[in-house]
Amino acid sequence: MIGCTCAVCRSTDPRDRRTRPSIYLAVDGGPAILVDTSTDLRHQALAHGISRVDAILYTHSHADHIMGLDDVRRFNVMQAGSIPAFADERTVSDLRRAFSYVFSPPNETGGGIPQLSLTTITGRFNVGTIGVQPVPIYHGSRPILGFRFGSFAYLTDCNRLADEAWDMLADLDVLILDALRHRSHPTHFTVAEALQVVERVKPRQAYFTHICHDLPHQATNASLPQGVELAYDGLQFEIKAASAFAEATADKPEKPWK
Ligand SMILES: [Zn+2]
Ligand SMILES: [Zn+2]
Ligand SMILES: [Zn+2]
Repeated sequence: MIGCTCAVCRSTDPRDRRTRPSIYLAVDGGPAILVDTSTDLRHQALAHGISRVDAILYTHSHADHIMGLDDVRRFNVMQAGSIPAFADERTVSDLRRAFSYVFSPPNETGGGIPQLSLTTITGRFNVGTIGVQPVPIYHGSRPILGFRFGSFAYLTDCNRLADEAWDMLADLDVLILDALRHRSHPTHFTVAEALQVVERVKPRQAYFTHICHDLPHQATNASLPQGVELAYDGLQFEIKAASAFAEATADKPEKPWK
């Protein structure tokens, strides 16, 4: 945290150095999927050798999850094309406003504008060879999206699951879940609340994310039950993705602006 000198902010443990929440799925023989374009996207892509993005999925439009969008330009150049992006209606409209120079560009452009083709998510959808199940969750009063990819689900930024979400989370190998800190917060799960969700969902392994500097990595990890750990920047694991759904309900992508 800027200007903070607490033990976690001064820690030399690399797992206490946390950039903004985002994940990257590299599917064997399939697409490379980025979830959110965090403010730290450029740094994260450089740090972890990310050289390809075939699709971008947005959980919601808070600044920490979208403000790296401009750095998508580099992937457009390397891949010589626009990148499909998927978000719910509110996030699509927020992206259009926050990045009006991208989605309503002036007639005369000097290049250097990211190219994304936005699709509004209205149900489960396919990204190339794999199927994605949006999971409805609440971030305070705001409904946002988590995503399930086969045996793995990613639920960042939430303090409540929608009633219909529970069935969508059956039989998970890995769950990544928001757990901000111990003190309660109006829009994020605490560690205790996240543990209650884990107890009900029963994934084989759970990782907590969106962690703030109240939680030192090593000490917090030691206090968690078996099968639950704090995530950290650079954490990698293998999952079984789902095949594409026969019936997918996301809208057709709009034409890219170009
Ligand atoms: Zn601190
Ligand atoms: Zn948020
Ligand atoms: Zn966030």
